[in-house]
Amino acid sequence: MRVLQAIRECAPEEPYRRADLADRRMIMVHRCTMGETAEAVAEGYRTVRGAREATGGKMPYAVVVYRDGTVVQSASLTDITPHAAAYNRRAIGVACIGDFRLSPPAQEQWDSLIWVLHRLRDWSGHRLSVHGHTEFTRATRDASKQCPGRHLSMALVRDAVESRSLLEIDGVGLIL
Ligand SMILES: [Zn+2]
Repeated sequence: MRVLQAIRECAPEEPYRRADLADRRMIMVHRCTMGETAEAVAEGYRTVRGAREATGGKMPYAVVVYRDGTVVQSASLTDITPHAAAYNRRAIGVACIGDFRLSPPAQEQWDSLIWVLHRLRDWSGHRLSVHGHTEFTRATRDASKQCPGRHLSMALVRDAVESRSLLEIDGVGLIL
């Protein structure tokens, strides 16, 4: 697994507002098909009609997990990124590249997602909970939205993050 940082490349024209550490209560998982890299996703939200309006041109995700399992940090973990409407301040946004309404993630992407959620969960000093975007109705304005989608079951994700065997892959690298 590779862990990269592209915070500068993905930064919005106007800086994000910042949350206090204590404001961060959860991690929210999303699907994303705006591009295959964090930079392409950020560029899409800067330029693509509809997307730009939805986020004010800002990259919505702090972490992006690629199909091949590469993990990229694209914003500071205290940047308030526009990914979850009423939950932006309390939730860190993690995007997985792909459409999990249609098909499941590859094993490498799954492994990296679980790894990064495990690392993020204890980052703030108070354990963060892990959710899917549309597990909360107030996290989106689109009531029919399915994010990340049924092929990325948040129940299975939470089970895997809780699993003790994860400790074995810990130590691959730090992004925080
Ligand atoms: Zn989402």
